[in-house]
Amino acid sequence: MPRVREQHDIRDDEKNCSCCGSELHRKGEEVTEQLDRPGQNPGYPECAVQIRLSVL
Ligand SMILES: [Zn+2]
Repeated sequence: MPRVREQHDIRDDEKNCSCCGSELHRKGEEVTEQLDRPGQNPGYPECAVQIRLSVL
């Protein structure tokens, strides 16, 4: 089954670190997998890997 990575970035205004104001260096990731999702071609499901970035 093809694996499709879908990355969801955080908002631009969340990208600055709250402790030092520089570009964010404390980032977390939440990964969920969605199996057997209908793919782009009918009859060929795919495994979607959803990656959500978050601020720690
Ligand atoms: Zn910092």
